[in-house]
Amino acid sequence: MAFKKVGMSPSCEINLEADGQHHGYVRIPFSSHRSAYGWLPVPIMSIKNGDGPTALLIAGNHGDEYEGIAILFDLFRELTPDDVRGRLIILPAANAPAVYAGRRTSPLDHGGEGNLNRLFPGKQYGAPSDMIAWFICSELIGRADVIFDLHSAGSSIDHWPSCKVRMMDDPEKDAMQMDFLKLFGVPIGIVGDRAHETTLSGEAVPGGVIYVSTELGGAGRITPWIRDLGAAGLRRCLKRMGVLRGDYEVSEPEGEVRLMAMQTGDNYVVALEDGLFEPRAELGEEVDDGQFAGYIWDLKRPWRAPAELHFGRGGIVFCKRHPALCEVGDTLFFTLNDYEGGN
Ligand SMILES: [Zn+2]
Repeated sequence: MAFKKVGMSPSCEINLEADGQHHGYVRIPFSSHRSAYGWLPVPIMSIKNGDGPTALLIAGNHGDEYEGIAILFDLFRELTPDDVRGRLIILPAANAPAVYAGRRTSPLDHGGEGNLNRLFPGKQYGAPSDMIAWFICSELIGRADVIFDLHSAGSSIDHWPSCKVRMMDDPEKDAMQMDFLKLFGVPIGIVGDRAHETTLSGEAVPGGVIYVSTELGGAGRITPWIRDLGAAGLRRCLKRMGVLRGDYEVSEPEGEVRLMAMQTGDNYVVALEDGLFEPRAELGEEVDDGQFAGYIWDLKRPWRAPAELHFGRGGIVFCKRHPALCEVGDTLFFTLNDYEGGN
């Protein structure tokens, strides 16, 4: 018998080309102390009905961002193939080991901080998080016309709900993206112009795949009004791209979406000492340049006056640290300013 060298590559239990509704696992080979010949189950579902566009729906890219996970669980159970024109591929707990552990990052690799969204394009024969990234790149991105990657802020921060697109210099795609921002119907629509290396956006956008992401809430919980807003918004976007049938009923967006630009630098308030963070601004609040933002109390020298924090550039408070304990380098607040571009 001839010798054969066989790879231990991720594999998918379901046929993504088959019509109908399917569910199973992406099997990530993982030989551990607890299970020598084991694999890790990453849930995957599909709904396909003939020809049409493909939407790839992802949540759990970070494991403690729960609104999107709940939205995708619910969507798969609600829809039938009759509702679909084309295909939905749903990966609702993408970094499954992180989701099962209730952590942003996977405890199984990269020193217990396996951050899937910093490991793209991944490795076919790497650690579990690398292999999940590789599977998404090699098997899913190429099938997708649009990717919806549903993030929230996770345990360490909280976000005012937003949807974000990245302009592609393609009039047709960009028009659809601007429609998505308005249809998603959360308070903030972010118009970006960058796709970062090592992230899913950095793999999707250069290949011409529309990549829509969200920051829906955070603090390691599910906030019902945000989850419901996101669920309705996602359905409107799927109908807009034509992957839900024309007479599928969706609700109207509840309010105006404020278009904002992605900012860096002065829009961040960061901790420059360790201590107890006492915020004095709320998510969604409009703050002025230099406005008082809160305190950091010195835990080991409580007789000292607390450090006073101030916003740099004002705007809408979009991000706020959730736990009180903070260390030098932690982002405490992050503001956004209005989008000044076209459309
Ligand atoms: Zn995330």
